[in-house]
Formats: sequence, structure tokens, C-alpha cells
Amino acid sequence: MNTTNPPFSDEHEQLRQSARGFIERELAPHAERWEEECWFPDDVFPKLAAQGLLGLKYPDEYGGQGGDYLHEAVLCEEMARIGSGGAAAGIGAHINIATPPIWKFGTEEQKQRYLVPAIAGERIGALGITEPGAGSDVASISTRAERVDGGWVVNGEKTYITNGVRAHFIVTAVKTTQEGGHHGISFLIVDRGDGVESSALHKLGWHASDTATISFQDVFVGEENLLGELNEGFKLIMANFQWERLAMALGAVGAMTIAWERTAEFARERHAFGRPLAGHQVIRHKLADLATSVYTCRCVTYDALRRFVAGEDPLREVTMAKLLTQRASYELMDACLQIHGGAGYMREYWVERAARDARLGPIGGGSDEIMREILGRALGL
Ligand SMILES: Cc1cc2nc3c(=O)[nH]c(=O)nc-3n(C[C@H](O)[C@H](O)[C@H](O)COP(=O)(O)OP(=O)(O)OC[C@H]3O[C@@H](n4cnc5c(N)ncnc54)[C@H](O)[C@@H]3O)c2cc1C
Repeated sequence: MNTTNPPFSDEHEQLRQSARGFIERELAPHAERWEEECWFPDDVFPKLAAQGLLGLKYPDEYGGQGGDYLHEAVLCEEMARIGSGGAAAGIGAHINIATPPIWKFGTEEQKQRYLVPAIAGERIGALGITEPGAGSDVASISTRAERVDGGWVVNGEKTYITNGVRAHFIVTAVKTTQEGGHHGISFLIVDRGDGVESSALHKLGWHASDTATISFQDVFVGEENLLGELNEGFKLIMANFQWERLAMALGAVGAMTIAWERTAEFARERHAFGRPLAGHQVIRHKLADLATSVYTCRCVTYDALRRFVAGEDPLREVTMAKLLTQRASYELMDACLQIHGGAGYMREYWVERAARDARLGPIGGGSDEIMREILGRALGL
């Protein structure tokens, strides 16, 4: 299927070819081992940085490539070619959710201290919002930061945090008023150190990613690490949601494209009852439906991306793209697994992992139900 579509230019397509080449050469061959080991090595970050891939949208002055969200969008799609949802998630969390708030809301000093080494792949970031008692209902977080001389003392627990074991710094949502809520949450950049403990979680998919629970016990954070305005952390959360959701939609489109291509090839080669699987109408029609789904997801996602890049506020379109693509990707992976028959259930086939990895999409970054709530409001219901 053709991937050259507006809003991408020739320059973006060249970036696509070089990012794809690097990923297929340097990362994809290790995906199976990383998944088995439930870890991918930290040196993947400096390797990506050496290719300029950790700073595509960031200005040159911080070591970035001076590109924009379209360049980043290309990478979001291509990361599906690693063949490990976990590795793509760990890299994606660093690029798409941990560092953007520092770029947008950080002081110059914070950018020098965190963004510059993050773009160089020397320090790895995580975003810590979710807690055992608060996921979709972000405003009800209970991790608290108490004001002390020169900074804050943080106590509480975050969970399901991507890069939660390896991260050198955690962009952390904390309550800075008694009540918390929409005007009582702030962000602190918490360095790993005394009082910060992580424990890895075992999960259905994304095995190479170190999803973790992180506890903070009397962690002192200097006032120079307040990110954005005090008590206005909700703005910071909202500011990056659209990009996070677009990044997820692009990742799904990338994964669906590859899955369709591989499954179509399998259906042409594998024979049953004297003909290729694709020679059976039911399978051929299924593949036709899946191709339609890939195309629909691509069009809706690119439309939202185009609006986002043009500076519109495409809340509706981004929300629809996230809602549509994550569920469609999961359904497509399940259908691809079915077409592979028993082989699809085996670890040695890529589709077994792809089907598990795709299950996260309708939950993470705002669940399907939350997307529908947002749409309900946006549609005046
Ligand atoms: C692998 C993985 C990686 C993650 N990475 C990160 C990370 O890096 N940083 C981070 O901060 N978080 C991360 N998360 C957390 C993720 O964003 C949350 O799991 C998600 O927002 C849902 O929150 P929850 O799990 O607490 O579910 P809940 O909010 O408890 O929801 C449970 C169910 O109820 C539904 N529900 C909730 N409210 C409503 C409502 N109003 N109406 C209808 N239905 C509703 C939900 O859709 C869901 O189906 C990660 C999660 C996973 C699984």
C-alpha cells in the first residue's frame, strides 16, 4: 500500500526511508530477544540520537533537528517496523510524552538540564500521571508535594508508567493544594534518587517495555524543578494530549499497514483445499475489508494531523482518530492472526505478538470510553 500521502512532502518521505532503513537494520533484528528478556537496552537511545531520531521536532539549539510534528509523525509510523510494541512504546514515551512538556513549559535552565541530554539519548524520561487510584480521572490523583524550604517533599505512588524502571527523570503530576483537582495539580521533574523506588509490572503485551509502579517516599525536589505554573499542571496535561493521541493513531496506522502486507503475502503463499488461502472468497473478502480499514484509519489520522500541524484545535478529529484506529488495529491484528491459523498462535510468528501488543491501544492515552465522553461533549450532547 502506498504510504506517500499528503501532508507529507518528498523531504518527509526521504526521512521515512532513512528511519525505516535504520530501524530494520539496527532494531528489528533484536526485537524477538528483547521481548523474551522483557527489556530493550538503554543504548538504543543514544543510537537513535546519533541518527537525529530523538529530536526531530526540537530546535537545533537543544540538539534537535529543527523539524516539526510532521517529521515526528513519520517516525511514529515507522517505529511499528521494530516489531516490538514494547520497544516502540519505550522510545515513544521518551519522545512523545516525557520530553514535550519540558520543551513547551520548561525554563531555559530546565531545557539545558533535561531536554538537551534527553535529545542526545543520555538521559531517559518518563511521564508519571496514572496512580493506583486515579487513571482516567486524572484530577483525582493523590500523590502530594508539600512545600518545604527550597522546594517540595513528594510522597505517593504512580503506576503503569512506561520507562518506569529505566527513566533517569520522571515528569510527575502531584497535588500541590489540599484539594488537588483542576487548579491544585502541578508538575515536578523528579530525578531518580533517594526515596524513588520502581518495580516492574508483568503484562499481556509490550513485553520489552519496562512498565512500572514508582513509589515516592519523602523525596526532596528542588524548586528549580517545578515545571510550568504552580497549581496549573492540568494545562500541561491537556497541552500534550492531542499530540500523544495523534502519535498513537500514527503508530496504529503503521502497525496495521505492515500487518496487512504480511498477512496478504501469507494468504497468497499458504495453500488449503488445493488453492492459496487468498483464493477462498471468504479470506479474500476479509483482506479487502482489512485494507479498507487501514485506508480509512490512515485518511482520518492524516486529516487530524494536517489540522494539528496547521495550528487548528482539532480536538474532535484527533479524538476520532484515536478512537477509530486503536480499536481497528486490535480487530485487524485479531483477523490477521485468524488468517494465520494455528501458526498465528505461536510465539515464533510476528502476529502473535502484534495481536497482544495492539490490545493496549483502546486503554492507554485515554480509553475508548473517555474518547467517547470527549466526543459527546464536543458534539454538544
Ligand atoms: C502498558 C501501559 C502503559 C502505560 N503508560 C503510562 C505512562 O507512561 N504514564 C502514565 O501516566 N500512565 C500510563 N498508563 C496508564 C493509562 O493511561 C491508564 O491505564 C488509562 O488512562 C486508564 O486508566 P485506568 O487504568 O486507571 O482505568 P480506569 O480509569 O480505572 O478505568 C477503568 C475502566 O472504566 C472506564 N471508565 C472510566 N471512566 C469512565 C467514564 N467516565 N465513563 C465510562 N467509562 C469509564 C475506562 O474506560 C476503563 O474501561 C499506561 C497503561 C498501560 C496499561
